[in-house]
Amino acid sequence: MPDLATPLIGWYRTNARDLPWRHPGFGAWGVLVSEFMLQQTQVSRVIPRLDEWLRRWPDPAALAADSPAEAVRLWANLGYPRRAIWLHRAAAQIRDRHDGVVPRDVEALLALSGIGDYTARAVAVFAYGDRHPVVDTNTRRVIARAVAGRAQPGPPGRRDLAAMDALLPPDDAEAAVLNAATMELGATVCTARAPKCDACPIAHACAWRAAGYPDTGDDRRRQARYEGSDRQARGAVLRRLRDAGADGIRTDTVLPDWPDSHQRDRALATLADDGLIDLDGAFVRLPRA
Ligand code: SF4
Repeated sequence: MPDLATPLIGWYRTNARDLPWRHPGFGAWGVLVSEFMLQQTQVSRVIPRLDEWLRRWPDPAALAADSPAEAVRLWANLGYPRRAIWLHRAAAQIRDRHDGVVPRDVEALLALSGIGDYTARAVAVFAYGDRHPVVDTNTRRVIARAVAGRAQPGPPGRRDLAAMDALLPPDDAEAAVLNAATMELGATVCTARAPKCDACPIAHACAWRAAGYPDTGDDRRRQARYEGSDRQARGAVLRRLRDAGADGIRTDTVLPDWPDSHQRDRALATLADDGLIDLDGAFVRLPRA
């Protein structure tokens, strides 16, 4: 297999975007919070919210000492607000199990609320400099094209970790940079719809390009429409409750004009199941504890 690591690392060192979590000394807590936020939200929306979070809660103990309602409130418009509740729970677990220090060990990270394969490895690699494969959707696309000669990656799986592991250089620091470089290439150059192959540092070694860009199909899952969805109803309920005080509001005044009352009731029920709201008789509010 051609050497992809050397040109990717060289390219990253001069082309990487200047992002807060890449600054030296950003800290494991900052990396953890940023990775939670980046899971399903664009970088430009994450940066101001992340700054606000870390000023308010500079360490896990500070977040754990505050209420889940405040975590949901400050999550604001980042979407998928369950992440705020998971992050709050993870902060309490870090305080209780790890003396308030974000763990370094992947298994210990995986045992925290809301942390999966990607986030656990991202924290171990980007915060602590350990050597693991870190695979996000951008990495998977670069590997699918450059290594496997496919237009788009298949469904996520363990083979992605093995494929990235095979590319990592032996040195821990270089391996960490390659993980970041591959993600960055997928985010900025080898994009899903319009890859900029003329600006790609591994174009000479790309299997998909060498094969003449064959249409190998696309079995990625399509994101469901937001408009009219249960997600939209859940977001509207949370916005209403963020604007309400700590005592909440009467349940029958939550979105009284929502076009589908069954959908509104379903939104309330699933938000309560997820721990994102407290349904207390005739009243509903953001969670107090
Ligand atoms: S040459 Fe084009 S398709 Fe291949 S990795 Fe680079 S940007 Fe992606």
